[in-house]
Amino acid sequence: MINVSKLKKGIVIDHITAGKGYKIFRQLNLDELDAVVVLMRNVDSAKKGKKDLIKIETDLQINFDVLALIDPGVTVTYVLDGEKVKKVKLTPPNEVIDILSCKNPRCITNQEHIEHVHFRLVNAEKKLYACEFCDAQTSL
Ligand SMILES: [Zn+2]
Repeated sequence: MINVSKLKKGIVIDHITAGKGYKIFRQLNLDELDAVVVLMRNVDSAKKGKKDLIKIETDLQINFDVLALIDPGVTVTYVLDGEKVKKVKLTPPNEVIDILSCKNPRCITNQEHIEHVHFRLVNAEKKLYACEFCDAQTSL
């Protein structure tokens, strides 16, 4: 069993779909943190069978948009003085910037270097986003 209360201060990203923990780890640049970071894979879960879990022993600005795109079912729990102080549930963001790249090979964003390309949500269930330049739909 994972005992979250052992964590004095930090963040627990729980209920990660098994196999996606490493992707989240990389996308949040957790390998660049100086703090203790634990990635647990294939943990037994009552709800999901197997799950991944990440513990970060520091305060960190988490990019919830990235998390919601990779795995919208995760829960993020903040721990302070060994107590769970806040739990965050994710919803797909209405708009993402810089996270996606357009899958249309003829799109201008793939021909030239364009910064801050906006994608707007067109289907929350399928996590489909439309490119602001060509309207092609891209998902993660
Ligand atoms: Zn495009």
